[in-house]
Amino acid sequence: MEYKAFMIKYAEIGTKGKNRYVFEDILCKNIRTRLKKCGEFTIKKEYGRIYVVAEAAYDYEDTVKALQSVFGIVGICPVVMIEDTGFENLKQSVIAYMDMCYPDKNKTFKVHTRRSDKTYPIPSMEMNSELGHVLLEAYPQLSVDVHAPDILLQVEVRQTGAYIYSLVIAGPGGLPIGTNGSAMLLLSGGIDSPVAGYMIAKRGVAINAVYFHAPPYTSDRAKQKVVDLARLVSAYTGPIRLHIVNFTDIQMAIYENCPHEELTIIMRRYMMKIAEAIAEQEDCLGLITGESIGQVASQTMHSLYVTNEVCHMPVFRPCIGMDKQEIVDIAEKIDTYETSILPYEDCCTIFVAKHPVTKPRLAKIKESEALLSEIIGELYQKALDTLETVTVR
Ligand code: ATP
Ligand code: MG
Repeated sequence: MEYKAFMIKYAEIGTKGKNRYVFEDILCKNIRTRLKKCGEFTIKKEYGRIYVVAEAAYDYEDTVKALQSVFGIVGICPVVMIEDTGFENLKQSVIAYMDMCYPDKNKTFKVHTRRSDKTYPIPSMEMNSELGHVLLEAYPQLSVDVHAPDILLQVEVRQTGAYIYSLVIAGPGGLPIGTNGSAMLLLSGGIDSPVAGYMIAKRGVAINAVYFHAPPYTSDRAKQKVVDLARLVSAYTGPIRLHIVNFTDIQMAIYENCPHEELTIIMRRYMMKIAEAIAEQEDCLGLITGESIGQVASQTMHSLYVTNEVCHMPVFRPCIGMDKQEIVDIAEKIDTYETSILPYEDCCTIFVAKHPVTKPRLAKIKESEALLSEIIGELYQKALDTLETVTVR
């Protein structure tokens, strides 16, 4: 006895009314793409459910892991398929199934039968009680609990065979990628921005990313780390177009012309401006950052106000109300943490002042930026013109 299929549970899609089929179709497409590397599967929508059926030998662990990375899925139920639906065979099958899934029988259970094949001679209620009965006979340690059973054994009888399942493996939840436009993630080598990208993508948003580097002050290894992070995030989001901006000249210009305690805030304003320009070219509808209120000087309420002022697009900051540890917990869950903590320099850490402003005033920052007026236009354009774009998957 082995699992030949998975029944896919999805939650919020069910609330989409007339658009429901659009969400379901995109979910099926995303599942198909994600499972390509795991084997040969048929993905079908039937009776308001999605089934993933293995057409050849496949690796169970890899397949479950791949399904757990598809947004929109809340539960993955491994299914045993039985060809002979004769009631005697069904009885033997549920006995064998129980033994395979639950070596410890000290549990409560309930059988729930559904007949998609209405010509099947035994009514569901009768099947429930008969199958319950044979299970109790086979395993006296089991007991029935119809209200809150440990095991809800589901049997579905169809014309083509019967499906038996009870396990529900948690999926990532959210909505299928591709159902909600796309956004531009400002991806640094830190812990927060990959988490921010993951969280927005989880709501169905496709992700583009932009990274600002400052060679030779930042190394190729620092850049490679960001490419690696983008790859880790792409396990959930699908391919990410990563735009790498050479930010050195702009940073140097700010460093040479503006007050040092304002370096970070002015630099962040230029980052947002450039990110927004690229986002427009890429048809994105918003920006995403890993900012969290009060985490560092550039993320106080005053700093966020001043940074945000350059943007016209909505800026999504899903980590905004989270403590560092809460962000770390998600980074660990999505497997980006170990890469994020590798010690390569970030372009922000090289040009930081000893005492950055924590309460910048917009008017004062604009005055300082005016000191750049003769050179910044050209540098800004050059940064956009020398953009390097890679697709990471
Ligand atoms: P992270 O852990 O995401 O690096 P952080 O705590 O280091 O965040 P900052 O360096 O202040 O915080 O950056 C705040 C946000 O700005 C980041 O989460 C990221 O979205 C963006 N950002 C910072 N540096 C860069 C960079 N070099 N390239 C692209 N985006 C950046
Ligand atoms: Mg950072």
